[in-house]
Amino acid sequence: MSRNDSTDVVVIGSGFGGAIPAYRLAAGGARVEILERGPWLTGDDFDHDFKFGSSSTRAFEFTMGDGMNVLGGNCVGGGSVVYFAAMPRAPRYVFGRRGGIGERMWPRTIDRDALDPWYDMVAESLPITRQDWDDVTYSGGLFAAACSRAGRTANPVPAAIDRDRCTNCNWMMSGCRFDAKRSLLLNYLPAAVVHGARIRPLHEVQRITRTGDGYRVHYNTVDEVDYRVVTGSGTIDCKLVVVAAGAAATPVILQRSEEDLGAMPEAVGRYFSGNGERLNTAVVDEDKVRELLKLDRGDGRAYEAYQIGKGPVCASWDKLDGSLPEFSRYSLEQLYFPPGFGTILAQAPEAAGPTWFGTEKKEMLRRWQSWLTIFIMSEDDNEGVFGPPPETGNADRVSQQMLSRGALSYRPSADTRAAWKRADEDVRDILERDGLARVMPWNDEVIGAYTVHPLASCRIGDDPETSALDDTHELRGHPGIFVTDGSAVPGALTVNPAFTIAALAERAVPGIVAAAGRRGLPVRYVAEPPPSVSSSAWARTADR
Ligand SMILES: Cc1cc2nc3c(=O)[nH]c(=O)nc-3n(C[C@H](O)[C@H](O)[C@H](O)COP(=O)(O)OP(=O)(O)OC[C@H]3O[C@@H](n4cnc5c(N)ncnc54)[C@H](O)[C@@H]3O)c2cc1C
Ligand code: SF4
Repeated sequence: MSRNDSTDVVVIGSGFGGAIPAYRLAAGGARVEILERGPWLTGDDFDHDFKFGSSSTRAFEFTMGDGMNVLGGNCVGGGSVVYFAAMPRAPRYVFGRRGGIGERMWPRTIDRDALDPWYDMVAESLPITRQDWDDVTYSGGLFAAACSRAGRTANPVPAAIDRDRCTNCNWMMSGCRFDAKRSLLLNYLPAAVVHGARIRPLHEVQRITRTGDGYRVHYNTVDEVDYRVVTGSGTIDCKLVVVAAGAAATPVILQRSEEDLGAMPEAVGRYFSGNGERLNTAVVDEDKVRELLKLDRGDGRAYEAYQIGKGPVCASWDKLDGSLPEFSRYSLEQLYFPPGFGTILAQAPEAAGPTWFGTEKKEMLRRWQSWLTIFIMSEDDNEGVFGPPPETGNADRVSQQMLSRGALSYRPSADTRAAWKRADEDVRDILERDGLARVMPWNDEVIGAYTVHPLASCRIGDDPETSALDDTHELRGHPGIFVTDGSAVPGALTVNPAFTIAALAERAVPGIVAAAGRRGLPVRYVAEPPPSVSSSAWARTADR
């Protein structure tokens, strides 16, 4: 079955980059259709389970590449549904980064001062709050104590979490059933729907073609259980397209559209950054925790609390220092990864046999409650390149849900490797002192690098040679197509990126409103924050 519709604006993807323009354009009077390839889940759908068909397998996509694997959201709300809600602003020096190309990556119009008012809007809308030491969990406290003993500082991480509602259940990656995690399901998306925007879940965009006065967006509908099965197709004609399918998908859609739209800017599908990420797993010696750090839970246990908490609550930002040279700046964030990829791929420290399976790994798993994961976000060199797009979809799906193989290849440069090595050694220096823990850095030899923060595959910038978008996020050579997701961010941020992606999306909206005006659409810019709703109330009223 095929259908053809028309509207003013089509938004592709419903994560931070899609939801924010969708709300503001709908509130300003535009007719908006949001196409989302994943299912539409809300509070009551979020399971505390990993079985097939639970929210854990429905809401995720793990895309394997050559040298780089990307984990991302695959549902209405995108990454905001599965994220850990750590929301720091990008440090000032980030906006002056030059990287391997040797020239400023960010447009000259954007620095921290210019972005702060847009950060403020997002902070008010989600909202984002400061966490205090009282909110820091055992694992966060353990990392902070280890940092302090090593002469370092650590701080609670600002988060989009309603602290009064949070139960510390640590099921962040399966969606929050308590409405404590401030995902886009609680603010921008319901507000967009109130203003007439329509969300179409299980609609996977394939390509964009040109019409007489705008664009035609082509999609397939996919089965709600087996995402490999196409159940229909259709098109929507529109005046403007906002592409926000995430940095692992946006370049694929644009590359496939080249045949009809004409040549894409050289930077589409190039300069991908994995935000310089590494996962270091430490196995802590409980006796040393008591002896060296003087920590005690009061019930005979010193720590044994890896599983208690709410994602990252504590980070060391000593190296977010603009006076340091590029590739030596990074943050170290304590993190919890539930059983799954993070546990399977964690390597046994100093194993004599295989590191990610075998007897030593089994022994390591037995001590799982004594783990501490330290997440490194450093500066990489934008080495990722997307190859030719697959025939359909963003990547070739290899199972009903969750797993696909994509066309991204990533060969870390010497600078990136040096940055990873510095950060790895720093984690060791903090945690291995006097035998407190044994640390195993992420080992690329098993599956290559890995990121939950894909960035920069279709980036903003001043130089048309190295940036696909101008500083208004319009795709060079294709007026009326805007890209507002993580792919627009020029490079690694050395901190979690969602807040910056959201702030950039907010900043892009006035330019999109102006473009709508040039096409005769009577859209005005609306600055009011979206009202908050509960996800179960929305589930009852929304036409899913
Ligand atoms: C486990 C995990 C934890 C994280 N924790 C944090 C954190 O604590 N702090 C932080 O800052 N960031 C975190 N992130 C990263 C954060 O979620 C992303 O940076 C952010 O969501 C990216 O926003 P985006 O708009 O670029 O893309 P997304 O949020 O990924 O949205 C893109 C949307 O487009 C949809 N889509 C893709 N292809 C198509 C298509 N062809 N047609 C239609 N729709 C499509 C996707 O299903 C998705 O819903 C985390 C990510 C993960 C996976
Ligand atoms: S830890 Fe808190 S915010 Fe996270 S899923 Fe549980 S209740 Fe929600």
